[in-house]
Amino acid sequence: MNIIWKGAKAFTKGREGKTVKHIVIHWVGQGDLETANAWFNRSGANTSAHYGIENTRVYQWVKDEDTAWAVGNWVGNTESISIEHSATPDRPATEETYKTSAELIQSLCTKYNLPVNTNTIKPHKFYSATSCPGTMDINKIIKLIQGEDMTKIEELEEDINKLEATLEEKRQKIKELEDEKDKFEDLYKMELGKITLAKEMIKTLENDKQDLANSKFELNNLNEKLAEELHMLSLVKLRVESEKEELEIGFSQLQDDYEVLKGKYQDCVNANKASILSELSLNQLLQEILTRVKNMLSIKQISKEGVR
Ligand SMILES: [Zn+2]
Repeated sequence: MNIIWKGAKAFTKGREGKTVKHIVIHWVGQGDLETANAWFNRSGANTSAHYGIENTRVYQWVKDEDTAWAVGNWVGNTESISIEHSATPDRPATEETYKTSAELIQSLCTKYNLPVNTNTIKPHKFYSATSCPGTMDINKIIKLIQGEDMTKIEELEEDINKLEATLEEKRQKIKELEDEKDKFEDLYKMELGKITLAKEMIKTLENDKQDLANSKFELNNLNEKLAEELHMLSLVKLRVESEKEELEIGFSQLQDDYEVLKGKYQDCVNANKASILSELSLNQLLQEILTRVKNMLSIKQISKEGVR
């Protein structure tokens, strides 16, 4: 609500220690809101009100804490806030004016902690002899305020319901998140276990790798030795082959020599045979001679014995 400050000539500062107990309803009776504004600000003005309403327009002439010269009753003035409404005998207040009035009065009742009823909201004529507020319907204003209150209460209840629903959703979400958190924690533990296992495996693999590197190194050494031995063996093979060739040559020479010797041997044998044969016949001859000599000798022996 946009309240436009206008000010007024006639008012009393403060409320002489009184508190606001009533809201007083007026009508302008003739002209409109601008007429009332001009009236309260004319030179020699001797009346005023706190507020004036025309449709959605709200003028303020006197501050809430000050006393307006409005109801024709001094104590009444000090204990009330007066509101003018744009209405005349041939022009009733518009629905918009009523609605704006209801809003303003509601906020004032809230400000001064006043109940919304006919004990609080009074017509000008309650205080003094006047036709004011004319056609203004106070019960209509009260119903509008209560309706607004009801609407406000319903809106608030709806808001509360929505907030409760939202709260429930959030609770649900928190629960889901907590469940998820638990799951993640379990998963985290599992993954941690896997990681520990993997680390151990890596350690084992590293040891294996070291072992393999050692084995490879040994194999390399072995390989080098084998290569050396192989080289030596090939050298030996070459030497053996050349020796074999020499031996073969030597063997064939020996064979030739053997053949020659064999021929010589045969010749010798043949020659020997001849000499043996001749020796044999010589022996025979000698034997025969010996036999004859023996015979001759034995003959001589016999003759010697015979002589005796
Ligand atoms: Zn009045």
